[in-house]
Amino acid sequence: MGAGDRIPLLVVGGGIGGLAAALGLARKGRPVHVVEKAPEFGEIGAGLQLAPNASRMLDRLGVLSEIHKNAVFPRRLVWLDAVAGKEITALDLGEKFQATYGYPYVVMHRSDLLDALLAACRAETRITLETSRDVVAVEPLGAGARARCADGTVYECDTLIGADGLWSPTRRLVVPDEGEPICSHYVAYRGTIPMHEMSEHAGLDNVVMWAGPEMHLVQYPVRRGELYNQVAVFKSHRYRPDSDDWGTVEELEAHFGRACAYVQGALKLIRRNRRWPMYDREPVADWTRGRIGLLGDAAHPMLQYLAQGAAQAIEDAVCLADCLDRHGGDDAAGLRAYQEARYLRTARVQITARFFGEVCHVDGVGRTLRNATFADRPHDRFFEVDWLYRYGI
Ligand SMILES: Cc1cc2nc3c(=O)[nH]c(=O)nc-3n(C[C@H](O)[C@H](O)[C@H](O)COP(=O)(O)OP(=O)(O)OC[C@H]3O[C@@H](n4cnc5c(N)ncnc54)[C@H](O)[C@@H]3O)c2cc1C
Repeated sequence: MGAGDRIPLLVVGGGIGGLAAALGLARKGRPVHVVEKAPEFGEIGAGLQLAPNASRMLDRLGVLSEIHKNAVFPRRLVWLDAVAGKEITALDLGEKFQATYGYPYVVMHRSDLLDALLAACRAETRITLETSRDVVAVEPLGAGARARCADGTVYECDTLIGADGLWSPTRRLVVPDEGEPICSHYVAYRGTIPMHEMSEHAGLDNVVMWAGPEMHLVQYPVRRGELYNQVAVFKSHRYRPDSDDWGTVEELEAHFGRACAYVQGALKLIRRNRRWPMYDREPVADWTRGRIGLLGDAAHPMLQYLAQGAAQAIEDAVCLADCLDRHGGDDAAGLRAYQEARYLRTARVQITARFFGEVCHVDGVGRTLRNATFADRPHDRFFEVDWLYRYGI
């Protein structure tokens, strides 16, 4: 399949969501063509947390055992006060957790996940993949859709899935008059380093989040424990919508100036060559137009505070494949059913992620209150995350 042929099902974007969707659809017998803007399929050099709701879906896609080969299985999620250097609370990820959800909590390198999905897609004869195809416009075409690329290539298809991320060109057609994603004024510096470069770390068995006023640091090992992933996030007070000169390294240092000595030491090891501004959008109830639909960050971009953006994209992928399959050939009806099944859940994650960010970044009496509120919380109580992790049981 390629440009010139009428394509039954076109997925725009070959990130985690797009490849998972292609795999899910192919497993249901659907031929799928994926076009990706980058010259190669790939992910950035940073880590990813996969909660049991994501693992359950990856298992259904048949790729979980491959993913586990390079993953790390932490024992606890630990939440610490970055100023006081003291534990606030934790979530035990041991036997009780795994018995409750049927899957472990997993942390891994992003490229290990993408590589596993890509290998599974390449092994599927129903999936064809193309890179260096930058889709600049999507338009309805009778019952189907047309996608135009920057290089002049045009694709006509019966059904189109926009899995093209936060800045999705597909979304411009499906959710018009909406404007740009919402900038939170927060920015992340992140990356992995060889484990031996971390002279001191917060425990190989743990995912650790140091929460501080308008900043936080997340740490965990990836790639079988050979690499250590760190993400430092803070709010920039220099944000201007028309400028890139905000969220600078100087602000990073200044913001973490109040952090405890351990956090300041760890911060020194984070690379400063690239920063990621954090965006989301208001949830919407309608992300379908005829036989054109959205998936993952294109449909419901969220702040990363619950570590659920990729997980939600993977849930979308499995749900989409189920819904299109159930509506056997009527993809417009299948896409509407998929949207109905997904939009309230993903809206809840988007909104809760914002709220959890507020709780992490609070200062003053709010910070004291937060720490006091969570102080006696049993570590093997899961009700705060139960709605999130139980999906698909
Ligand atoms: C700091 C940070 C930490 C995070 N941590 C976690 C975590 O621990 N766990 C978790 O589940 N999620 C996490 N997330 C969220 C997660 O990274 C995203 O939600 C997820 O990658 C979304 O996947 P996607 O496939 O929808 O979009 P993307 O990953 O953005 O993929 C979109 C793909 O489409 C391609 N594309 C874009 N435009 C076009 C075009 N015009 N034509 C063709 N192709 C195009 C892109 O090149 C890309 O390959 C985190 C996010 C951030 C910023």
